[in-house]
Amino acid sequence: MDLDLLETTLRDAGEPAYRARQVWEWTARGAAGYEAMTNLPLVLRERLAAEVPFSALTVQREARSRDGTVKTLFHTAEGRAIEAVLMRYPAPTGERAKRAGRLVGRRSVCLSSQSGCPLTCTFCATGTMRFGRNLTTSEILDQALHFRRVEDIDNVVFMGMGEPMMNLDAVLGACRRLPDMGVTHRRTAISTVGWIPGIDRLTQAGMPLRLALSLHAADDALRSQLMPVNERYPLADVLAACRAYFEATRRTVFVEYVMLAGVNDRHEQARALVDVLDPRAFKVNLIPYNPTGTFDGSGRGAIDAFRAVLEEHGLRATVRLTRGADIDAACGQLAAAPGPPPAARVQAGGAGDRPDQPPNRDRSASTLAT
Ligand code: SAH
Repeated sequence: MDLDLLETTLRDAGEPAYRARQVWEWTARGAAGYEAMTNLPLVLRERLAAEVPFSALTVQREARSRDGTVKTLFHTAEGRAIEAVLMRYPAPTGERAKRAGRLVGRRSVCLSSQSGCPLTCTFCATGTMRFGRNLTTSEILDQALHFRRVEDIDNVVFMGMGEPMMNLDAVLGACRRLPDMGVTHRRTAISTVGWIPGIDRLTQAGMPLRLALSLHAADDALRSQLMPVNERYPLADVLAACRAYFEATRRTVFVEYVMLAGVNDRHEQARALVDVLDPRAFKVNLIPYNPTGTFDGSGRGAIDAFRAVLEEHGLRATVRLTRGADIDAACGQLAAAPGPPPAARVQAGGAGDRPDQPPNRDRSASTLAT
């Protein structure tokens, strides 16, 4: 829902100032449309239905995973593609259920902040899509509202398409309204490649959001190969900016580290990670690689061994539970444009084996499962 258009429409209709708030409250609680807003005069409901589209986005396709994950492909008004994912985690059982005081598993929504992404991380499908544009606050909220109409949601992660720190005003605008949908700042995470100006602004914003950093390598040479943005914002500066966020908020920064066989999963690379991350400020989330056609993912044994090294040295580490892989909805698999199969596979065996040529940016990972 275009919230600016809503306000001007209500003003033009001579409605009192509280109306916009009323409409938003219904919407945030999952109302199916204006017709459900029974404390609004009927003529006003009809006028809004005619003049303010209930969602700025249209659903193009929806894919459902065996694990309950749902991936939705939306179009913006001018036809740009974006995707969002609802992840349903297993319900807690036994003691855990008692502690959590609930029998329904966590419901987490993964939102996109841009259509496509201007960055070109080599392992991520979105980086292969042409960059479209920044999304507006309303377009970001409409993704979450789509799922909110289906069921209660309690977590939001900005880990869909795009780099949220390059569109921070719109992202923070959405974050400010998420609590009305039941998602507090503490249960909202913004993930970044390490875009320092955005991290600094988030530190100044004073909102207790979760910051997540996509690190993937503990040395500049390898990180620059995997994520060209590292040339612009090198590792030490990025980590210092994250550290400042921790100092200001006392909120642990989550480090995401996608496990690539023979590339960043060796024992000495785990030690290097220990050396650069202060365990009081950072916690590591190891991510099993979801195939996008470029690398080979580390096996379970290699991931567990890597994790053991981190923990032996006092660095907290978890292995991310992969959701929605069978519908290409897992991390790094969001790419809306169908295209030819990947042009080249990168052989495992260390960064030195990577081809000199940059990956073919025209290739595109598979799209929604049909
Ligand atoms: N641009 C932001 C937000 C996107 S988050 C960022 O990069 O942090 C997407 C997360 O999924 C990032 O941690 C990213 O590194 C990770 N990811 C990308 N491709 C992946 C893949 N193929 N397998 C597993 N994780 C991947």
